[in-house]
Amino acid sequence: MSGKIIHRIAEVRSKLREVRALHKSIGFVPTMGYLHEGHLSLIRRARQDCDFVVISIFVNPLQFGVGEDYAEYPRDLSRDARLAFSNGCDLIFAPTVKEMYPQGFATFVEVGGLTEHLCGASRPGHFRGVTTVVTKFFNIITPDHTYFGQKDAQQALIIERMVTDLNLDLTVHILPTIREADGLAMSSRNTYLKQEERRAAPVLYRGLCAAQEKIEKGEREVENLINLITEIITSEPLAKIDYISIVDLDNLQPIQKITGKALIALAVRFGQTRLIDNIIVEV
Ligand code: AMP
Repeated sequence: MSGKIIHRIAEVRSKLREVRALHKSIGFVPTMGYLHEGHLSLIRRARQDCDFVVISIFVNPLQFGVGEDYAEYPRDLSRDARLAFSNGCDLIFAPTVKEMYPQGFATFVEVGGLTEHLCGASRPGHFRGVTTVVTKFFNIITPDHTYFGQKDAQQALIIERMVTDLNLDLTVHILPTIREADGLAMSSRNTYLKQEERRAAPVLYRGLCAAQEKIEKGEREVENLINLITEIITSEPLAKIDYISIVDLDNLQPIQKITGKALIALAVRFGQTRLIDNIIVEV
């Protein structure tokens, strides 16, 4: 295991100045830690593409709402370091909250439109927290390439929009969702699930796949597709639906009929745990 963990912004900057002086390209993967195969797939891809790979591990309080799981969110830096370094990471940036948001912090980055629906509606302020922290990371790390997961489809689109709108000089890569063998999308939050909830959770992907099959057989009506997914998910008594939406893939606005590329996205609670998943469909 090689690689370095740095907690201070000034120290990361000075290390990355050395990297830049050698004309090395920098790849960056932002995470909240408690790494799993989904994160590691992003790190491995960054390793393939770039000379120097940085990941951030930071549970960002700004993107958690009141009553959400900020305090409980799983944290284990030494386990994360072992996994990250053995998958090709060169540097972990793991700042404290005070380092990122010192007294007097008052500036936010907000993307309009795309943040209205889906998780933006259920978690007000969440994406403002994400875009603010990611912008700070981009400014601190100055990556050439950055990697996000399709698992958080709305987040990925918002980051792409922000990079375009603010003329940030880097390439955003969106990589496929990594799943458990039974279809459950990997997530650090899966560790919250009680045994019964974990057994029930693959119903999300089963619902999404059933909709995809229906579309392949010719169904285009969004209402029918949402009814189908709802029926499948509510067949699990432990599942409590937050939203099931089918939206235009470019602007994330709800649609009535599937005519091109669409995103089917959902958020469902199992006990205290809120899980999200999505697929892209195309006709
Ligand atoms: P998080 O630590 O949950 O904030 O996630 C950090 C990055 O990993 C985000 O870009 C996520 O979209 C991505 N990610 C999380 N879970 C998965 C997964 N199952 N497959 C692919 N990427 C993922």
